[in-house]
Amino acid sequence: MPQVVYFNGEYVPVEKAFINVYDHGILYGDGIFEGIRCYDGNIFRLKQHLRRLWDSAQYMGIPIPISMEEMEVAHAETLRRCGLRDSYIRTVLSRGVGDLGIDPRKCSKPTLYIIAGKIAMFPESDYENGIAAITASSRRVGNDTFNPRVKTLNYVNNIMAKMEATNAGVRDALMLNSMGYIVECTAANFFALREGVLTTPACHVGALRGITRDAVIEIARGMGLTVKEDFLTQYDAYVAEETFITGTGAEIMPITKIDNRVIGKGSCGATTRAIREKFKALVKVDGYKI
Ligand code: PMP
Repeated sequence: MPQVVYFNGEYVPVEKAFINVYDHGILYGDGIFEGIRCYDGNIFRLKQHLRRLWDSAQYMGIPIPISMEEMEVAHAETLRRCGLRDSYIRTVLSRGVGDLGIDPRKCSKPTLYIIAGKIAMFPESDYENGIAAITASSRRVGNDTFNPRVKTLNYVNNIMAKMEATNAGVRDALMLNSMGYIVECTAANFFALREGVLTTPACHVGALRGITRDAVIEIARGMGLTVKEDFLTQYDAYVAEETFITGTGAEIMPITKIDNRVIGKGSCGATTRAIREKFKALVKVDGYKI
């Protein structure tokens, strides 16, 4: 089936979906996005993703040209037209086409598009063995510069951190804030388990409020674990019994080596595995059916 993209209210073949060179999303990173996933025809927690998109747009002062209901339909319709039931979806809203100055008032109409792509799955062995990470020197943007809860088109700090990880021969990187507290990984939230307490960096430390993060917090509490949103340092990560990251792409991925230290027993821990099993069941039922 041909790939179709929702582009400013129309469904167009991907070959005909072009961004104008004057779009401020490209010129200045002036825009926001969502990464969403569809599991066997169920768009997992679409409402929560759209809520976050609306919140990011509110922060940035970018008007969203369609209603939330229309947005839901546009997502489902894009998937249907692509013939995809399992997909990674990218929703982008930019300030729109303006002139070469930064003044957003020159952008009269935001650009909105939805791409439904094929999902690139991580090999099952990664979920069994876990992946290695380093701590990056590139810091996550902080509340004092640009609010990190907004999912903007500016990922350069994270990209630099990812490059550090690649150069070090590992898969991902922990990113710290300017105070040295762990915030998250390059495109996923971070969790550490120790003595029955599961801790993840609080949003005010600089973490994005991940949709997967929220689901994991609910699942873990349902399993009787104590879950804290708190400050975490590299020390907490090194001495944890289990660590893992969460994200729409990675789902729940164990981190079994950090800065060359083996975490716990060096493979996926029992708690991480149990949370992942529950998550796998949730993604099929909780969401918007296409
Ligand atoms: N943090 C960052 C910086 C991210 O880019 C992502 C991916 N969207 C996440 C965390 C995880 O969020 P989610 O579970 O909503 O995918």
